Amino acid sequence: QVPEFETGQKKKTLVILGSGWGSISLLKNLDTTLYNVVVVSPRNYFLFTPLLPSCPTGTVELRSIVEPVRSITRRSPGEVIYLEAEATSIDPVNNRVTIKQSTTVHSGHSGKDTSSSKSTVADYTGIDEITTSLSYDYLVVGVGAQPSTFGIPGVAENSVFLKEVSDSVTIRKRLMDVIEAANILPKGDSERKRLLSIVVCGGGPTGVEVAGELQDYIDQDLKKWMPEVADELKVTLVEALPNVLNMFNAKLVEYTKEVFAETNIILRTNTMVKKVSDKNVHASHKLKDGSTESVEIPYGLLIWATGNAPRDITRDLISKVDEQKNARRGLLVDERMLLDGTDNIFALGDCTFTKYAPTAQVAFQEGIFLAKHFAKLHELESLKYTLANPKPTDNTDRLTKKLTKLEQKLPVFQYNHQGSLAYIGSERAVADLVWGDWSNITSGGSFTYLFWRSAYIYMCLSVKNQILVCFDWVKVSLFGRDCSKE
Ligand code: FAD
Ligand code: NAD
Repeated sequence: QVPEFETGQKKKTLVILGSGWGSISLLKNLDTTLYNVVVVSPRNYFLFTPLLPSCPTGTVELRSIVEPVRSITRRSPGEVIYLEAEATSIDPVNNRVTIKQSTTVHSGHSGKDTSSSKSTVADYTGIDEITTSLSYDYLVVGVGAQPSTFGIPGVAENSVFLKEVSDSVTIRKRLMDVIEAANILPKGDSERKRLLSIVVCGGGPTGVEVAGELQDYIDQDLKKWMPEVADELKVTLVEALPNVLNMFNAKLVEYTKEVFAETNIILRTNTMVKKVSDKNVHASHKLKDGSTESVEIPYGLLIWATGNAPRDITRDLISKVDEQKNARRGLLVDERMLLDGTDNIFALGDCTFTKYAPTAQVAFQEGIFLAKHFAKLHELESLKYTLANPKPTDNTDRLTKKLTKLEQKLPVFQYNHQGSLAYIGSERAVADLVWGDWSNITSGGSFTYLFWRSAYIYMCLSVKNQILVCFDWVKVSLFGRDCSKE
């Protein structure tokens, strides 16, 4: 039965897809007493992605950067239903979304979780797959994106992405597997050399941060645990463009290159990966004279970080709305996050294609905006309801004017860019900061690293996460990181 307000007005149902930066920001800021709120996501926790690159090496523990959805819904003023499921299809005509029970998030291009093939209750128990559908008055799509492979042959089969918790676990396991396997082989063996080659493809912030973290682990810890193999372990970062970190100031790009050279991270720019086999990365290297040469880079572990691609559910929605037919890289929305071609579906974060970069910062601010927008929509609906069912005491002229004014003055989303930060390894970070409307600060180095740490602690969603991350950092500085597989 649909609950009602005291006025007799029916509460509308708001279905939110996803539990990432956008959806959780919306949920935390939403007045949940105004709607029947249902959250659907295969991931029953929020993941603080900025610190995910620190997890495979154990600089930060995975449990320190996750926050259960239910600990957020429990603190909501109104009831929020959470369903651990993934949306498989959206019917924008009949306002229904089909959901399938799912216990893991599909981060990989192949649609499979990289650490496990078991993703539904049916896999474990043999009971039938649970599929059902929900009706909504408003739908918010915040399903994020999946790692892009650009259809390059062999990528999905042979590489690990860095998007979800399970990816971090897989990277950790494969890293230790190749190190232990190489250790059995004699020095000088070509297979040993291949196993000890870690290739990271994509020189965006994800690739740079993970390369920096891996090199830190080799220099600061593995050299103590396994000096015989640590010296031979090589991290290579492959980037198709002439530079890494292209969204950063040119000075910081140069600084990153210097730090990489100093810490022995091999940087191969102008090198576009064309094919991946089980042991080699095949790439085309652009030379200074404009000609190209083919290169082969043997690898033991390949981490793929070349940006985002739309998820299946996003493509499904695009195919069902005429106004979305030109959408290639994500859902098209207006300045109030309303999906073009619909009047009750909103989208935010990485599943949309807007003038903003697909970052946590953008998704988070969009979530706050949408929470306020839904409060305004509720006010509008209430006014419309009162006008349609007036009491003798209601001044309908005044209410009509109020309604018109509210409709005309509905705010639009305005992004406030606070800057970009990235860790580049050896306790150094780069920062392009914007303070106020006028000042831009560009900095790189150890002080920036301390700033990077403080900023990320500040950004953590809960005090518990803040404390756990600080503990992890202290633990690593006191005892170092170990070399166990788990
Ligand atoms: P996500 O946070 O990815 O959330 C998507 C949610 O949708 C997930 O809960 C997922 O389980 C759920 N979902 C998926 N499919 C379905 C489905 N079919 N039905 C229902 N739910 C579904 N940005 C920054 O600004 N600063 C950083 O330092 C930074 N560091 C990063 C580091 C890494 C390693 C990565 C991968 C990204 C980083 N980003 C950073 C980018 C940032 O994480 C994303 O821009 C942000 O997560 C986007 O938020 P979102 O809510 O759109 O998607
Ligand atoms: P990205 O899109 O920022 O970078 C991907 C890189 O891969 C590009 O430089 C591209 O030229 C390169 N590339 C693509 N195909 C290639 C190929 N075949 N061979 C070699 N190189 C290839 O991707 P990302 O780093 O995963 O980041 C995704 C989003 O998340 C971005 O918006 C980013 O800003 C955000 N993010 C931010 C942070 C941070 O602020 N610290 C950290 C991680 C991610």
